[in-house]
Amino acid sequence: MQKEEFSKICRELSSGGSHALSRAILPAVKEHLASHNKKKLPVIWLETNDSGDNNIAFMNTAYPYLDRVFTEMLDLLYSNTFMAAQGRDALSILEQVSETYKGKFTLVVEGAIPKKDNGRYNIIARTETRCITALEAVTRLGGPAEYVVAIGTCAGFGGPTAARPNLTGSVGVRDVLDREVINVSGCPVNPDWFVGTLAHLLMYGRPDLDKLGRPTLFYGFTVHRHCQRRSYFDNKDFAKELGEIECMFLLGCMGPRTGADCPYRQWINHVSWPVKANTPCIGCTNEDFPDGSSPFFTPMAEKSKGQEGGKNASNQGGEQA
Ligand code: SF4
Repeated sequence: MQKEEFSKICRELSSGGSHALSRAILPAVKEHLASHNKKKLPVIWLETNDSGDNNIAFMNTAYPYLDRVFTEMLDLLYSNTFMAAQGRDALSILEQVSETYKGKFTLVVEGAIPKKDNGRYNIIARTETRCITALEAVTRLGGPAEYVVAIGTCAGFGGPTAARPNLTGSVGVRDVLDREVINVSGCPVNPDWFVGTLAHLLMYGRPDLDKLGRPTLFYGFTVHRHCQRRSYFDNKDFAKELGEIECMFLLGCMGPRTGADCPYRQWINHVSWPVKANTPCIGCTNEDFPDGSSPFFTPMAEKSKGQEGGKNASNQGGEQA
C-alpha cells in the first residue's frame, strides 16, 4: 500500500467509509512486512504517572481486536502494564531487550514524568541498592530508541498529572528528552490514533506532525470543523442548557481550538463522541489540558480569566477552523 493510500484510509472515515481503521490497515501491514522481509515493530512501553486510561483505550481497538494488533503488527518487548513478569525478572527483560534492540525499538511512554526531588514520585523498579525512577528510565531509553511515542496527554504535555498545583513537578516526555517525541495526545487516546501512528512508523517511518508533534493524520483539523452541530454555530444558534440540540459553544465547548478527528472517528467502537452524547468537548488533546479547559462547562472567554499560572493556551497546533 502506498503512503498516500494509507493516509486516505486514515482520513476516509469522514466520508462514511469503513469505521474500522485496524481492519483497513492491518492486512496492508502484514503484506508490507512479508514483501519487505521485515519484522513487527519492536516496542518498549513504560507506564509512568497516569491513570492507565490509555492502555485501556488501546485494548479497545476494534475490528479486528487487540490480539491481531499484537500478532501482526507489534512486538511488545517490555511493558510494565501488560507483561506477566514482575520484579527482577521484568527488570532483567528490560535491560536485555533495550540492548538487543538498541537503535531499533520504539519507546512508548504512557504518563507524565515527575521531575521534582530527582523523580522519586514514580519508581518503575528497585534493585538491591537503589530505585529506578521513571525520569531515569525514560532518559536512558529515549536516546537509543528509533522513535519515541508519547501516548496520552499526560505523556505528551503533562496533562492532568501536571495540573495545578502539580506537586510532583510532572512534565511531558518532550521536556525530559533532547529529541523528537511523537505526541499521540488525548485523555484517553483514541485507539485508532495510536494504532494508526504505529502502523505509519512501521511502513513509512515518521508521520507528518503538527507544531505540537502530533500526527496530522488525526489531529490536523479542529473538532469544530467537522462537528455535526457546526451549522448551529454558524447561525449563532446556541444551546443554553445541556441536552439541547444546538451548538454548545456557550456551555464551554472547546471544539474550536482542539485538534482531533472525534466527530467522524468517534469512540467506543466508533459509535459516539462527546458532542453526540450531548456534552461539550473539553479539549483533552490540547497542550494546556486540563488547566486551560477549566472550569468545564464555562464559556471559553471566561475560562481564560485567572489562567496566568497555566500552560500556553493559545498554541494548540490544530488547524483553527
Ligand atoms: S462549538 Fe462545539 S458544539 Fe459548537 S459546533 Fe463547535 S465543536 Fe460543535
